[in-house]
Amino acid sequence: MASLELTNVKKSFGAVHVLHDISIALADGEFLVLVGPSGCGKSTLMNIIAGLEEPTGGSVRLMGRDITEVPTADRNISMVFQSYALYPNMTVAKNIEFPLEMRKVDKAQRAERVQSVAKLLQIEHLLDRKPRQLSGGQRQRVAIGRALAREPQLYLFDEPLSNLDAQLRVDMRTEIKKLHQRLKATIVYVTHDQIEAMTLASRIAVMKAGVLQQLGTPQEVYNRPANCFVAGFMGSPR
Ligand code: ADP
Ligand code: MG
Repeated sequence: MASLELTNVKKSFGAVHVLHDISIALADGEFLVLVGPSGCGKSTLMNIIAGLEEPTGGSVRLMGRDITEVPTADRNISMVFQSYALYPNMTVAKNIEFPLEMRKVDKAQRAERVQSVAKLLQIEHLLDRKPRQLSGGQRQRVAIGRALAREPQLYLFDEPLSNLDAQLRVDMRTEIKKLHQRLKATIVYVTHDQIEAMTLASRIAVMKAGVLQQLGTPQEVYNRPANCFVAGFMGSPR
């Protein structure tokens, strides 16, 4: 069974058609990287997968269930955005714990998960700080930690590294790759960085103006681009 199945997903805002019949099926544990120019509809698609926006047509199924039939509180999806959106008045520990509290996870288990993600992401020494006392990279780790602690079925990352400087981006990319291998989680990850896409993806989806141009492994997309746009975007050899 596909763990995430998008079938002919369409989205319009008024008369503006932002997504045209996007169909993608992901197996459990896949790492899909979604690429395409700014404004092509990547975030809109992520918001639809997260259930934050309704598609105008088509369906989104997670583990076989239509996402619109699952109450928001029961959707087992974690999203990490470009702007980390940590709660400014809560400590790092509380930031990670709070969503678990909302989901009625008991106290002992919450404490255990906070400790375990803090260890994994090497933020144990930061647990008592407030977000403003952290660097960009540290905040980003906390945001990922918060997503991990929920132990979701699906992770959605929307350009999580684009606010970081180049070196940190490379380091975090390596860490995200390791995390994926360790957690065997299903991930949809948006970036406009082609190298990030090539190194992280099990498959890449290339979009242009709301239309899926190609869906394939990094090697397929790079070596056998479906059209000139994909070739240009991925920097394929000519
Ligand atoms: P990307 O993430 O690829 O940069 P977006 O999904 O954010 O692209 O946006 C795709 C298009 O949809 C853009 O033209 C954007 O202006 C438009 N759009 C996104 N959200 C809305 C909205 N709530 N209302 C109207 N237009 C929107
Ligand atoms: Mg976007």
